Amino acid sequence: MEKDKMQKGFVALVGAGPGGAGLLTRRGGEYIAKADVVVFDRLVSSEILDMIPSGVEKIDVGKIAGFHKVGQSDINTILLEQAQKGRMVVRLKGGDPFVFGRGGEELELLEQHNIPFEVVPGITSAIAAPSYAGIPVTHRDFCSSVHIITAHQKENEPLKINFEALVGTGGTLVFLMGVSAVQGIVNGLLAAGMTSNTAAAVIENGARYNQRKVVTSLGQLLEQVQQQRIKSPAVIIVGDVCSLSDKYDWFSKLPLHGMEIVVTRATDKLGSLSSKLRELGASVQDCPCIVTASRMQEDGVQSKLKELHKYDWLVFTSVQGVQLFFDEMRALGMDWRNLSHLKFGAVGPQTAAILAQQGFVADCIPEVFDGVHLAQSLLVQTEAQAKILLVRATQGNALLREKLLEADRCAEDLFVYDIMPDTVAAERIQTVLRDSEQMYVTFTSASTVEGFVKSIPNFDASKIKGICIGEQTEQRAREYGIAHCIAAQATVDSMIEKIKEIYDATKRA
Ligand code: SAH
Repeated sequence: MEKDKMQKGFVALVGAGPGGAGLLTRRGGEYIAKADVVVFDRLVSSEILDMIPSGVEKIDVGKIAGFHKVGQSDINTILLEQAQKGRMVVRLKGGDPFVFGRGGEELELLEQHNIPFEVVPGITSAIAAPSYAGIPVTHRDFCSSVHIITAHQKENEPLKINFEALVGTGGTLVFLMGVSAVQGIVNGLLAAGMTSNTAAAVIENGARYNQRKVVTSLGQLLEQVQQQRIKSPAVIIVGDVCSLSDKYDWFSKLPLHGMEIVVTRATDKLGSLSSKLRELGASVQDCPCIVTASRMQEDGVQSKLKELHKYDWLVFTSVQGVQLFFDEMRALGMDWRNLSHLKFGAVGPQTAAILAQQGFVADCIPEVFDGVHLAQSLLVQTEAQAKILLVRATQGNALLREKLLEADRCAEDLFVYDIMPDTVAAERIQTVLRDSEQMYVTFTSASTVEGFVKSIPNFDASKIKGICIGEQTEQRAREYGIAHCIAAQATVDSMIEKIKEIYDATKRA
């Protein structure tokens, strides 16, 4: 089957759900991971687009290029042509592909040309948006059916909806594509005998961080929508279940609901900060901005590895440094006997834990996890002339070595890797930066500050508010003129507390 898909070309019509990656099905995620090309719509969120592996071709058919969207028949042709090249084509659509998604039309040409396909359902906004506003679309006390209706209308033509039939059901009515047709919907329902005090709601950007809702009565609906300037995409819900929203709206009550934040990190390390912030309701732009490159094969490094007998201490300032060091030792046929005379230092508990996995207990860990404090702790535990090898990145904190030298220790650097800016995410971040008045950005190391600044061409610090994990990070932010604050303790949880504080303050203001 798998092989067949590859040879003939294959199209997976995948529903992306209403917004974030959490509401995409696993099956959909699997297809995205193995796609050769992804053809996507305007409604697909950037969080889901971020899941597309780099190097995979992306075709945006939702773009309004010169005021013309790519027409439906052109989309159909794109899918066919891509599949005929023998490629694995993923057609990503907002919500569910078969719920007002033209999924049926897109399959027609494929079927005619015998292209194999699969439809992966998605969570439709018709259900998800009400869920995220605390509105159960059915409830035994209120109704026994739910109806999904398109309120799309051709210009200057009345809505083609059988309002009498709908009102007759007594069910919950969910209208899609209806923002510009609210008046027609309200008039139609009232004329068909629905009472004006029936509860109604509109949910804009449902299940997304910037969700907004209006909960009112049918009679007040138009006025409220205009007053709040509700825009597409939004669903309109009519039925008494809407009255439950006040009680059951769990989403807009999340502490960071509505907050947008950029989380910088090393490209190969996905930390816990992003997921914790998302849990709290924030919209997170993940920003990998630094890559590391091993220097293990360089002559200077290799010769130092053969001289370990000359040193008293081996000190590590990162997990990565430990891993590179021990991998290379093993590759050179060395083992613990080459290290048995040494004492070990680690900048913090994570580095120490990885060191322990290699079979070595750290003799020195400072109480505050940075270079300066590491130097202070080492000074307490060593004597003058002690020979200390600092295994770390070229871009590490120079103060560590300086403090040791000042106190008459023989400290040498062994630079085992370089940290460089990763520019892949920069383009996206630049667009976000351009469109926003202020951007919150988290920094968990001085090198992420560096990588972030360097990966963005013509970097402008004026719109950025940095949230820094600790002092060194803060110092780097200051050097680049970034307005910033610092977590009370150098931990991710403490950063989150700080972010909550800031957000509460802005909400109050
Ligand atoms: N296939 C999609 C619907 C496409 S039609 C689905 O199943 O959700 C486009 C309409 O869907 C929009 O006009 C709007 O009414 C609705 N819509 C899509 N995403 C939405 C969202 N996140 N919040 C509110 N409405 C949304």
